[in-house]
Amino acid sequence: EKKLGLVIDLDTCVGCQACVTACKEWNTGGHMAPLTDRDPYGGHVDGVWFNRVHTYEHTTEMGGRTVSFPRSCLHCEQPACVTVCPTGASYKRASDGIVLVDEDKCIGCKLCSWACPYGAREFDTDVGVMKKCTLCVDRIYNDNLAEEDRVPACVAACPTSARHFGDLGDPTSAVSQLVANRGGVDLMPELGYKPTNKYLPPRAHTEHSAKVNAPAL
Ligand code: SF4
Ligand code: SF4
Ligand code: SF4
Repeated sequence: EKKLGLVIDLDTCVGCQACVTACKEWNTGGHMAPLTDRDPYGGHVDGVWFNRVHTYEHTTEMGGRTVSFPRSCLHCEQPACVTVCPTGASYKRASDGIVLVDEDKCIGCKLCSWACPYGAREFDTDVGVMKKCTLCVDRIYNDNLAEEDRVPACVAACPTSARHFGDLGDPTSAVSQLVANRGGVDLMPELGYKPTNKYLPPRAHTEHSAKVNAPAL
């Protein structure tokens, strides 16, 4: 069973927001919310942003390092947004597991937005319909793009290669191997929605790595 999704490495994400901007450019024509609409953690409050990155300072449990946390639709196997949608506008594709919104069927009731525990739904007030990350369906199957560009815009844009795209339903895929080798985790697994996207946990910075990473003086 094909399960396309992202594996996001919280150890190497530097919170640069390149993925946020690239996503916005590709999916909504680049109408950027002004900087004043950003929240203090580096995310974006107003406007339609399929991908938001929040930055936190972990003073004790992570050994005093900064952790940035990219957040977008996790393409759940048991998606709450699909269960609650009264019109069938929200659906999960059997062919590849991507969760999408049929904008023609969406009546803008926002039930899905209340139901999604990951805050992944984005209401577009301009057109009155719900939107969210599509895993860039119009890139990943796009024969007009070079093969290396047939990945979500955020993956192509990430300067530290913290974002990986692939088939998490195939245990031999590169993304599945990463999850196995690095101990990839589900976000809030206790809720039972079975997210497809996985996160690779940040590693505490040890005295040794702090020295290695210190700039030469
Ligand atoms: Fe639906 Fe939210 Fe899961 Fe995405 S993260 S599939 S919007 S419940
Ligand atoms: Fe379905 Fe649209 Fe209502 Fe969400 S806002 S539950 S997609 S009809
Ligand atoms: Fe993190 Fe990569 Fe996004 Fe930058 S582009 S915020 S490093 S995931």
